[in-house]
Amino acid sequence: MVYCPACGQEQTDETKFCRFCGDSLPGAGMMKLLRQEALELAAKRNGGHLTEAQAQSSQTMQAVEQNRANGGPNIVQNGVHAQSAKQATDDLKALMRELH
Ligand SMILES: [Zn+2]
Repeated sequence: MVYCPACGQEQTDETKFCRFCGDSLPGAGMMKLLRQEALELAAKRNGGHLTEAQAQSSQTMQAVEQNRANGGPNIVQNGVHAQSAKQATDDLKALMRELH
């Protein structure tokens, strides 16, 4: 599962273009890598600790992915989790902008 970097909508792993806004997607593996790298860099800058917001974003993404892996109900359909996931995507985008 990946989130469109442009609109934050959930997509299936193999999707190449966002079906909501048409933006090209980096793919699940790359998203995971970028997310992890961004968090690690942020943690380093922050003296080895994630900020509370970054940690929450990370936990949300892990929870969503864990839930999916366990075949549980799609909690992203829940408005609160969808908002968290969108926030996580926005945080990541902001982080990536800072790094460049
Ligand atoms: Zn999109």
